[in-house]
Amino acid sequence: MGGHNKNYLQLRIAVKYKRKIVKLRRLYRQLNGTRLFSLLSIVAVIGLLANPFSSFQTAAKLPTKLQLAEFPIVVPTIKYGFALDTFQVMEGSIKNNQFLSQILENYHVDYQSVDKLATAAKDIFPVTKLRAGKDFIVLTKDSTQAADYFIYEPDVFSYVSYQLKPPFEVKKVDRKIETEIKTASGIIESSLWNTMIDNDLSFELASKMEDALAWSIDFYHIQKGDQFKVIYENQSIDGKTVGVGKVLASYYKNYDNEYYAYYFENKKHHGYFDGEGRSMQKAFLKSPVKFARISSRYNKRRFHPILKRVRPHYGTDYAAPRGSKIYAVADGVVTKSSYTRGNGNYIKIRHDKSIQTQYLHMNGFAKGIHSGVHVKQGQVIGYVGSTGLATGPHVCFRFWKNGKQVNHLRLNLPPPDPMPTEDLPAFYQLRDSLKIQLEAIPYRSFEQKEIDLAATNATNQSTSKTKKTGP
Ligand SMILES: [Zn+2]
Repeated sequence: MGGHNKNYLQLRIAVKYKRKIVKLRRLYRQLNGTRLFSLLSIVAVIGLLANPFSSFQTAAKLPTKLQLAEFPIVVPTIKYGFALDTFQVMEGSIKNNQFLSQILENYHVDYQSVDKLATAAKDIFPVTKLRAGKDFIVLTKDSTQAADYFIYEPDVFSYVSYQLKPPFEVKKVDRKIETEIKTASGIIESSLWNTMIDNDLSFELASKMEDALAWSIDFYHIQKGDQFKVIYENQSIDGKTVGVGKVLASYYKNYDNEYYAYYFENKKHHGYFDGEGRSMQKAFLKSPVKFARISSRYNKRRFHPILKRVRPHYGTDYAAPRGSKIYAVADGVVTKSSYTRGNGNYIKIRHDKSIQTQYLHMNGFAKGIHSGVHVKQGQVIGYVGSTGLATGPHVCFRFWKNGKQVNHLRLNLPPPDPMPTEDLPAFYQLRDSLKIQLEAIPYRSFEQKEIDLAATNATNQSTSKTKKTGP
């Protein structure tokens, strides 16, 4: 999940900057680019990538009639630990099946040097880890001579600088992640995901919010009009959001039920607690998949879609894309990881003397999952598929109690005990301050956004005298 989010985020960032870069290139072409301008554009683009939110500082150097102020350009002095303006900066991207020696050939670096570099890099960031499609930067003092440095960014969190001359110094530098407390809210229109997108929030935040509430909310019953608020750590590098840290507090209102989750830690506990200091971590998770939808419920008189006859359905089906992760709903020991024609690939876990859970139609098992293995609550045990008697990808989740399959959604499992009395005062203090912060977060509904947009348009059309009232 995390990987997808990050890729999605990076993709969004990449698309955003590509557009800006294209705009910039067009602009400099208009300037009938002399060498100075093309060099400037490279520096400017680097500056843009370095800090897209910085104030505009180079306007004075360029013709004013072009109104460049809309482009947040800054010429950096120091980046990757170098004073970039003292080098010629060249950009490129690694092609498929391209060796470092082939890339560096273009910058007059001989094979012997590349060989020494590869040896020097071995324990820091081996050159074999360079990936096709990734961008790099080459720094050179004199473009007719061998270049000085090759800089590669494996991800937004770090960069590697390779010195191309003796002593071939190789450095991997982790960028400083800034953490800032942010808040968000939303009113559900269709799904939690769509609401997150509408509010410009990430899937990572949705997922972490769901974790905070530990699925104590039946996310399969969320409805239009449900409300959520969240206080979380926003992580950024050079002003660019790169991820979500911890969710510190979350509020969710479903029908007339209000749920709170507060993050609290001391020497003995850490995790999410409700307003009374009870752990949000239930003995059993509500479902074995995230963001899934119930496609068929526990039903003793169900008409089977494949067998075309009434046959009891002793499980709850969660439909999810093929390959979605399946989680163990509680700690336990795997007693079966097997295949039958009906069940397809399935796993059975014993949780205590009376309770077992079973997961059917899996695409495959997670690495290391087999009979006899201990699993933790929330551990990935396999992936959604449609093996066995199944019409589409889903997990048929079965809950066994004293040897009988029961409807787990109807079970009233006892709430966990509150934390020990001596820890409660510290918890209550934290809870109260977080609750005040949660209450202060305003909602911005879909309708409100429409109104804001209309207001902006109305302001822009200052010449127009007529103004419509109402929606
Ligand atoms: Zn089923």
